[in-house]
Amino acid sequence: MTPSTTTTSSLLPLMQEVSQQVYPLSTLYVVATPIGNTGDITLRAIKVLEMVDAIACEDTRNTSHLLARYGLSKELLAAHEHNEREVADKLIARLQAGQRIALVSDAGTPAVSDPGARIVDAVRHAGLRVVPVPGASAAVSALSASGLINDQFHFVGFLPAKAKQRENVLAGLRGISATLVFYEAPHRINETVEALAAAFEPTRQMVFARELTKLFEEMHRCRLPEARAWLAADANRQKGEYVILVEGAPAETDQGEAEADRVLAILLAECPVKQAASLAAQITGQKKNALYERALRMKQG
Ligand code: SAM
Repeated sequence: MTPSTTTTSSLLPLMQEVSQQVYPLSTLYVVATPIGNTGDITLRAIKVLEMVDAIACEDTRNTSHLLARYGLSKELLAAHEHNEREVADKLIARLQAGQRIALVSDAGTPAVSDPGARIVDAVRHAGLRVVPVPGASAAVSALSASGLINDQFHFVGFLPAKAKQRENVLAGLRGISATLVFYEAPHRINETVEALAAAFEPTRQMVFARELTKLFEEMHRCRLPEARAWLAADANRQKGEYVILVEGAPAETDQGEAEADRVLAILLAECPVKQAASLAAQITGQKKNALYERALRMKQG
């Protein structure tokens, strides 16, 4: 008996057990799919994808390829960020008629920096059941293998594309002591790394988690000022998908300053410096002049 036959046959009882579990009707199943490696799918996810009446997915071509890898074929309904509301109404009607529907995204866990949250919200509002079928998540995978020691993390996801908005968001994150988790597309990796290095103390560590679970998977830990050189050292690093982790605020960061930065960052996105400083003084109880100076520095980057 070859090793692969042994593995498959020893999984059969478990697959039977999964098949015999209860899968209620009139339910939306939010199913995580792999973030690269097709082996990273759960037995329960396969069972659910096999039994549902239809699958709502971000991109029907991607999902039909994925299903084919597992020997599955199913009615697919396109559910992307531009049509979530309309699709939700159709799904609700089908769920009310007693069907089971799965929701998947192109990769990983739906509704996390991916379409799906509006559909889940609408289905719940209609009084229907939503069941998560957990699995791969790029953020959690990166955190688990990063070696950064911190029980807390703050998921940021994608930063705004516009420089000023990005700076404001980063300024608001300065005082957070949890590990910061960012998603980034390859075409913006350089500018994001520049922005992170400008926003946080140079003593902070960061982790690049690139192409997780794929052939060219790479994880690299360095201090923020060294990040640019690591990216430039290999042209391949301009390609691929990245999770970036940044160590949280150093313990000695003054809590009052951190809170002032957070409040100012929010206000500066909406009002002029003087007004932001004045409002921040009322909110935090700190001196208006000092806040005005801080706001000016934040505005100038
Ligand atoms: N919902 C997905 C999840 O659960 O992780 C994330 C989808 S989001 C649209 C895509 C982003 O996730 C990518 O730009 C990248 O930041 C991150 N990502 C997805 N797959 C990845 C991988 N294999 N390696 C590193 N990052 C990945």
